[in-house]
Amino acid sequence: MDVFEKTDKFIMNTYKRFHVFFTKGEGVYLFDDKNNRYLDFLAGIAVNILGHSHKVITQAIEKQSKKLIHVSNLYYIKEQADLACLLIENSCSDKVFFSNSGAEANEAAVKLARLYGKKERYKIITMKNSFHGRTITTLSATGQTKYQKGFEPMTPGFFYAQFNDFEDLKKQIDDKTCAVIVEFIQGEGGINTASSQYISDTYKLCKEKDILFIADEIQTGMGRTGKLFAYEHYGVEPDIITMAKALGGGLPIGATLAKEEIAKVFTYGTHGSTFGGSPFVSYVAFNVLKYVLEEGLAKKAEEKGNYLIKNLKSLIKNKKDVAGIDGFGLIIGLHTKSGEYANELVLKALENKILIGKAGDCSIRFEPPLIVEKEHIDTVLEFLDKNL
Ligand SMILES: *Cc1c(COP(=O)(O)O)cnc(C)c1O
Repeated sequence: MDVFEKTDKFIMNTYKRFHVFFTKGEGVYLFDDKNNRYLDFLAGIAVNILGHSHKVITQAIEKQSKKLIHVSNLYYIKEQADLACLLIENSCSDKVFFSNSGAEANEAAVKLARLYGKKERYKIITMKNSFHGRTITTLSATGQTKYQKGFEPMTPGFFYAQFNDFEDLKKQIDDKTCAVIVEFIQGEGGINTASSQYISDTYKLCKEKDILFIADEIQTGMGRTGKLFAYEHYGVEPDIITMAKALGGGLPIGATLAKEEIAKVFTYGTHGSTFGGSPFVSYVAFNVLKYVLEEGLAKKAEEKGNYLIKNLKSLIKNKKDVAGIDGFGLIIGLHTKSGEYANELVLKALENKILIGKAGDCSIRFEPPLIVEKEHIDTVLEFLDKNL
């Protein structure tokens, strides 16, 4: 049996996979079993910010794997402490809880918010078209019924407001509300950017009513938007920030960051994770974050993003199937007029050895590694000019 047959026979059928498999990666390129080279403009869904086989990551992996991989959170872990320190020094938060994925990072945020609400307040408002994960509770937080279907009953206490509609948000909020969760750019929802006015109104209202403002930065964090965190573009300081995807440079790690006043409701025994913040993954994430900061990769993401957006804008002017573009930094969406058209374009790109992703029903997303260069962007622009 080959890889395709084995996969179809032995792996649960939850993914629609493209008929290809990769055997190695280098920089912004992936190589399949026949040594065909693909330009990676998806980065494992906003994960591989340093591309593939980056020295910072391979060296950190080699070094730490020979020292210590796992010990459990029953002991102090130096690598975890160092990573926490670096995250806190570079964010508006005071404390971190480490887990292994985005869903877990959001689970911890929900648990924090519920504890902070001290039972009288338990309602959490999220946005329609949002995406927060696949566990039952993070699915409940996800404002898309298509993902929830069949898994009911959902975790109670979640209410959905229209994205970018402050009046609708106000309607959802009452004296039982303990938190609001937002993505500054909806990723899985199709690359939709929150307006500055919307965020500042929402933030102000949250402050007035002692409602926690939770930022899901799982896809937008680690420099992708042009700042280390997307909240920095909006002049707000979230009470809780969740991270995952790019944090480990490809290794699984989740982090829930919070202000001291909120973090302190997590006391001994209230939450935990066997693997969360292991020496191995923490050491790698620490080195990835340090590199992102030292090399100014956020700034680079902004420059490269501006270049891509500027050229996309003029390119799509007379393309009848395109509805517009959205996003900033290196999380950019091309909205198409039909979902089918978007599907076809992703396939066409694959045939042309370019990896891009679909997001939402009618969007293509470009989320290359942050180390992408102008010439790589030009390759994608050329493809789009020919094929849109
Ligand atoms: C990917 C994603 C998640 C879920 O992360 P997993 O690691 O797949 O659990 C949650 N929120 C956002 C915004 C995401 O992009």
